[in-house]
Amino acid sequence: MSDSEPPRRKTLSLKSGVKAPGGPPPLERLPPRQGGRVVIPEASPPPPPPAPAPTGDFKCKPCGTRFDPPAELADDESVRCPSCNARLGLAGDFRADPPRLEKLRARYLKK
Ligand SMILES: [Zn+2]
Repeated sequence: MSDSEPPRRKTLSLKSGVKAPGGPPPLERLPPRQGGRVVIPEASPPPPPPAPAPTGDFKCKPCGTRFDPPAELADDESVRCPSCNARLGLAGDFRADPPRLEKLRARYLKK
């Protein structure tokens, strides 16, 4: 039993700075490319379009989102806030003139 490995000998690679004669002539040096990157000219991106003004005659009391009661709802269907999905009242109460606000969980913005 031998628990010691024999020392390894480094094999020296033969290095010689002499180039092999008869090789191809060095290519003419091309000018290096400018970094190889596409340089983007400084152009400020177009400003984002302004946020559309909130529309809607009503305002959800729970979350404050403005909305219009969907016209396709029947009078006895509940209007839900498009943002928080809270039940805000019946469509018929929204459409009443004036809206029956005492039944609605929404504020009427039009006067
Ligand atoms: Zn809401």
